[in-house]
Amino acid sequence: MAQDLIVYVLMIITGSTLCLCLGIYASFRLRDAPGGKAYTAATFMAAMFSFSYLFELLSPTLTQIKFWLRIEYIALPLIPAFTLMMCCSYIGQKLPRWLLYILFFIPLLTMTMQITNDGHHLYYTSMKMRENSPFPVVELEHGPFFYIHSVYLYACMVACVVMLLMQLKKVKRRFRQQILTMVAGLITPIVASFFYVGGMSPNGVDLGPVFLSVSYVFHTVALMRYRMFNMVPIARDTVFESMKEGVIVLNESYALVDYNNAVLDILPDLHPGSVGTPITALIPGRPELADVILTGVDADYAFTANQQRTYYHIRFSSVRNPGQVEVGTIVAFMNITERVQMEEELKRLASTDSLTGLLNKSALMQRSEQTIHALKPSGGSLHVIMFDIDNFKKVNDTYGHEAGDQALVHVAAAARESLAGNGIIARYGGDEFIVCLANSTFQEAYETADDIRRRVARIDLLFEDRIIRVTSSFGVAGTSQLEEETDQVMRRLMREADLALYAVKRRGRNGVHIYAESHNSSLSAGE
Ligand code: GH3
Ligand code: MG
Repeated sequence: MAQDLIVYVLMIITGSTLCLCLGIYASFRLRDAPGGKAYTAATFMAAMFSFSYLFELLSPTLTQIKFWLRIEYIALPLIPAFTLMMCCSYIGQKLPRWLLYILFFIPLLTMTMQITNDGHHLYYTSMKMRENSPFPVVELEHGPFFYIHSVYLYACMVACVVMLLMQLKKVKRRFRQQILTMVAGLITPIVASFFYVGGMSPNGVDLGPVFLSVSYVFHTVALMRYRMFNMVPIARDTVFESMKEGVIVLNESYALVDYNNAVLDILPDLHPGSVGTPITALIPGRPELADVILTGVDADYAFTANQQRTYYHIRFSSVRNPGQVEVGTIVAFMNITERVQMEEELKRLASTDSLTGLLNKSALMQRSEQTIHALKPSGGSLHVIMFDIDNFKKVNDTYGHEAGDQALVHVAAAARESLAGNGIIARYGGDEFIVCLANSTFQEAYETADDIRRRVARIDLLFEDRIIRVTSSFGVAGTSQLEEETDQVMRRLMREADLALYAVKRRGRNGVHIYAESHNSSLSAGE
């Protein structure tokens, strides 16, 4: 065998085997990826074409060469069709049915014309063995149908290249390289075929099959660049980027595989170079977030940036390969700040008296129960002060309801000031207020009540050029050993404080009275 032929044969064996391996690999790994089926078909067709060409090269007679040429033409015309389909799927473009028919009609016509050439000579006008060749090679003169096939082939390839290049501007930088790799894969066999068609190939040997296998290596690299998805079609990129939810994709060892722009609000330090780094290393200052991610259970997460608190609901979904094996996780961050703030506001409104800003009755009962629950194990004390504005009806009657409202606001402010953050204070209803003091003594409760009384009496409320003054009456009740108390303790203390308050009202108002079993005051004050 001629030296040159051995070299070509070895090159073509390598190329064909490579195509076959890529086809087998693709049929397992890229089967379910977008464009994966067309890619698999294209690689198998390329392998079939290359192997048949190998046998054509090794055939000594024209009859045998013709036989292998026919086998080649079962595969070759379909390669551009499958390649075009692969590129369309890759960019998320669906081909119309009529175009698909044309796409497959021309290859079928080419196959038929080539196989039946001996009857009409419209594909090859002449086929003869090349003279002065170191090994048997066929010399072909091309007829009109060969040119139809060639135009079709180049048109498909150019369409693929144009389609991919048009996507270049639309995609993120990190996908550009992937597209350019695919474009390189498409251009390689086009350049090679120019050499052959232009008669520049060595000894008339078509090295197209070799270039075809090189081309599919480019495609494989492009498609496998993002292991997690096997293939990252541009359609997916568009959806991913237009999502309002921040999303990161992690592989099975929690390394970052992908992320969208929206996630930069939460993880602003991510950049294309972060891909491949474990997520824990990418969020060093956020151990709680790292915990949530590593636990992998849906959870809420809040963080403060620029003095603004933002709340997220973190949702996990697993990424599985076609064999249903988990290969990674999609972590989605939903901004729930508005919802949380609204819930907090609703909670606040539901527990607040709108006029005075103090807690309302139901919130008082809830908070005091919580305090009692917390105090009980240590047997702490609890005191309740109930107070009421004296002759408040008169204020309303004399100055009007609006003046009465302002008086209520001022009394509430005076009581709040006096407590300075200690205890619980609520507007119980009407002109009645309740203070609840934990771990205090009767003496302290009494002093607190009397301090509020003095402050209220000192208020000079200016209303329409008139000064309004009000006084208030206080009843105090308490228990020094909560642990022995039943659940009804709050209600009992309120009842007793009310009785003590009633005692003050009876005695003439503007005073403080401490409840005693005998209803006699143990400590009492007033003006
Ligand atoms: P006493 O010294 O016995 O407490 O006499 P009083 O006139 O204050 O009698 P009482 O506490 O029973 O009356 C409370 C009055 O408070 C009745 C009602 O008209 C008035 N009031 C209740 N809620 C409001 C309010 O939101 N705004 C105003 N302006 N008045 C209110
Ligand atoms: Mg009153």
